[in-house]
Amino acid sequence: MNDFLASEQLAGVIQAAYIIAGVLFIFALAGLSKHETAKRGNLFGMAGMGLALVATIVLVAKNSTGAGQRPLAVTLALIVVAMAIGGAIGAWRARTVEMTGMPELVAMLHSFVGVAAVLVGYNSYLEPGLENTGSLASIHSAEVFLGVFIGAVTFTGSIVAYLKLSAKMKSSPLVLPQRHKLNAAILLVSAVLLVWFMGNHESSAIIPLLIMTALALFLGFHLVAAIGGGDMPVVVSMLNSYSGWAAAAAGFMLNNDLLIITGSLVGASGAILSYIMCKAMNRSFFSVIAGGFGSDGAVSGEVKDYGDHRETTAAEVAEMLSNAHSVVITPGYGMAVAQAQYPVAEMTAKLRARGVNVRFGIHPVAGRLPGHMNVLLAEAKVPYDIVLEMDEINEDFPETDVVLVIGANDTVNPAAYDDPSSPIAGMPVLEVWKAHEVVIFKRSMATGYAGVQNPLFFKDNSMMLFGDAKERVDDIVRALG
Ligand code: NDP
Repeated sequence: MNDFLASEQLAGVIQAAYIIAGVLFIFALAGLSKHETAKRGNLFGMAGMGLALVATIVLVAKNSTGAGQRPLAVTLALIVVAMAIGGAIGAWRARTVEMTGMPELVAMLHSFVGVAAVLVGYNSYLEPGLENTGSLASIHSAEVFLGVFIGAVTFTGSIVAYLKLSAKMKSSPLVLPQRHKLNAAILLVSAVLLVWFMGNHESSAIIPLLIMTALALFLGFHLVAAIGGGDMPVVVSMLNSYSGWAAAAAGFMLNNDLLIITGSLVGASGAILSYIMCKAMNRSFFSVIAGGFGSDGAVSGEVKDYGDHRETTAAEVAEMLSNAHSVVITPGYGMAVAQAQYPVAEMTAKLRARGVNVRFGIHPVAGRLPGHMNVLLAEAKVPYDIVLEMDEINEDFPETDVVLVIGANDTVNPAAYDDPSSPIAGMPVLEVWKAHEVVIFKRSMATGYAGVQNPLFFKDNSMMLFGDAKERVDDIVRALG
């Protein structure tokens, strides 16, 4: 058994398994880029992760065959116990999480990657391994330092994102005096600490590492705390990217090629997603990663008087829909909260059966996760070809008879165009007010995520349909008969 574990062939098989797993992860990403192939993409990812786990366990067994190592059975037992505990908690969370709780769960999971990179970094510093001598020692020191830095920023940044998304912390930006200079100073001091750390091979080298860890933990907190309401989606995808780089850094420290490949895939795809979201929101990528740079955290606290709003009933809306030729539904976070996607799909099917042209307009940051609305609508089996992106539908609103705004608020707020002092100023929105009639489904006149009032509700062609979105849509489905 020991001869087999120590053999060169086994090392080759493990490398081959890693390469196959890496290719499966690339297929997974490619699959996830389209609704139609997303399920297949997930299966590729699961297969890749299964293979990677088996190969890594075999690798650990192989590495623990040398003299002076702990017995193989103990190593394997430790892995099995850790996996059983982690797997049980993961399975329980995955089964119990509500769709509305997904964003904070994802943010929380990113924080685990961050803390793992920090722990791997400290472990790798305290037990550097025999191969890390001479010039390799310097490279190893740099890997440890950068890995701990990225991991610590990801850790606290993700915790703040979790707190903001779960409304345990105010979503408005934290504006400390001289905050950009503070961030720059932390980067500068960290660079000096890196030089100190790399030039010092005594046990005191842990001092710069510890100071940098504390600074990086603060930086992660500060970067995300400084970002306000409307920019949070970019932060979520940015932290996704950071968690990938943290994993890649851990891969370098552990000499694990697969972790480097996987981390880079996550890091790069998260960065591309952040860039796409920034473009969609008309924000500069740099300003968001620098922690709200340029916005100066402006939140207009001004309460303006927009006049009165009109109310309507489900029966009236059903009547209006029956007489319409063209209907556009723009869902938002409220549809997820109410779990209204199923009756919305039923209503859509009924109207389409009557010859009404029903389409969906999806804002890139609707809901609380990139692609949140697309996932809900796909879950309720709404045909993909009638689910359009904001850019594809915005020009059609003037020719639309009725728009149903179901639980959306910030993403249909005309203040983004009309009010330069608004925190969402400049963000492209769904121009629903250009349609003939607009019905807004929500429970009250409360604001959306960005905390700003919406002048749409007070326009002459707008009507409020108050109540839980699921109950109101159910009422309409019944009234449609
Ligand atoms: P908003 O968060 O702006 O508004 C949602 C609306 O839904 C609220 O005004 C609320 O009004 C209503 N609502 C809540 N529950 C119900 C219910 N049960 N029935 C009916 N209505 C309900 O949603 P949008 O999707 O328009 O905008 C998303 C916002 O979230 C943007 O500001 C975006 O930047 C931010 N964000 C997006 C992320 C992403 O990745 N997509 C991540 C983080 C933040 P009421 O309480 O009166 O019912």
